[in-house]
Amino acid sequence: MRVCKFGGTSMADAASIKRVINIIRRDEGRKYIVVSAPGKRDKSDVKITDALYACHDAIDDNDFDSAFAPIEERFEQICGDLAPKADIASVLDDVRRGILSERSRDFTASRGEYLSAYVLSSALQVPFVDSAELIKFDSDGALLLDESLALIKSRLKDIPRAVLPGFYGSLPDGRIKTFSRGGSDISGAIVASAVGADVYENWTDVNGFLSADPRVVKSPRPIDWLSYNEMRELSYMGAEVLHPEAIFPVRRAGIPIHIKNTFDPSAPGTVIVSNVRHMGDANVITGIAGKKGFSIINIEKEMMNSEIGFGRKVLSVFEDEGICFEHMPSGIDTLSVVVRDEYLEGKLPALLSSLWRATNADAIDVQSGLSLIATVGHNMTSRQGTAAGIFKALAGRHINVRMIDQGSSELNVIVGVDTFDYEKAIRAIYDHFFCAD
Ligand code: ASP
Repeated sequence: MRVCKFGGTSMADAASIKRVINIIRRDEGRKYIVVSAPGKRDKSDVKITDALYACHDAIDDNDFDSAFAPIEERFEQICGDLAPKADIASVLDDVRRGILSERSRDFTASRGEYLSAYVLSSALQVPFVDSAELIKFDSDGALLLDESLALIKSRLKDIPRAVLPGFYGSLPDGRIKTFSRGGSDISGAIVASAVGADVYENWTDVNGFLSADPRVVKSPRPIDWLSYNEMRELSYMGAEVLHPEAIFPVRRAGIPIHIKNTFDPSAPGTVIVSNVRHMGDANVITGIAGKKGFSIINIEKEMMNSEIGFGRKVLSVFEDEGICFEHMPSGIDTLSVVVRDEYLEGKLPALLSSLWRATNADAIDVQSGLSLIATVGHNMTSRQGTAAGIFKALAGRHINVRMIDQGSSELNVIVGVDTFDYEKAIRAIYDHFFCAD
């Protein structure tokens, strides 16, 4: 039995939802369907979730109706085509009233998935089951995974097929709570784990994971098999195929994730499993991903290496300021902390003065304009020459490496380069590992 999640582009309009319906009908095993809100129909279009966030911002304005209009139009169009008998007008009316009375950003955003699931369940004539009753968060907004799994299991026990909205669940007081953006992937993984699916199929608009960003490298090689860990590394570092947190519920249950393309269903896609060592791909590198927008905070102090507790003092400052860090390379008398620029916004002056106070450093400086590139591959474990290959490739194109970090799992090597070298650096590494004879 399979659990399928269909993403925003698959649900964007009636024509793409017809493809979704064909895919579901083609295989009897596709029992539980989790959906996203309709995404963009073309590059200039607006995702329904974004339109809903705009609606929330317009609750107190006179133009709420014009903010809600594109949502009404889209669902009326889709439903008119796919499920003409469904009373979408009154469902939209309830949603509109709900948004105005709840006045909650999460509630408003969740209505895209709610309406999407309503339309698909009407078109398929399969029961709609509301995720608000099944996916539970604690009062701090942390997912209660075990409780949610138990609720889903018992609720779906006697419902052989169902359509469920992704992206949201509820808090102990019943209010709606959403995951972070792209969170329907997590909802699908939770449902797959709860019902003990054989496979969690995640239907997107791409042919699975690619070995590099196609906007940077021309026609990068698709990845057939990926381990959960490699997928985490690639997603975290910018490969936007699957939400990086979607693997936790399925990994625990040993359920493979199969990434498929709604618009090219016969393409093999990418299968994500726990162990890919014996899958036969001899390439040392599985993929390359990267992100722009990092800064390095360099802290220098004489005799730092012998000062016990120095690292703790630095990290306590980051903790107190509520700032997450990515990497912490160190020298004998220097310690650097790599942070995303967005986490520093508005916080940098306070962070720096706390660091001066806590560490008594000789010098602290901040360098921005850093990009990180992760070269990921299970095959690099205990093989020689991977790091050498990366640095040779970068040096060959005259790219300066500003930071190096290799995780102890030997699953990836991360380098920091100047943002103006970002694309050039990815191409250099790709060409070295994938295009050399
Ligand atoms: N619709 C939500 C978003 O745009 C969730 C999802 O698509 O998974 O982020």
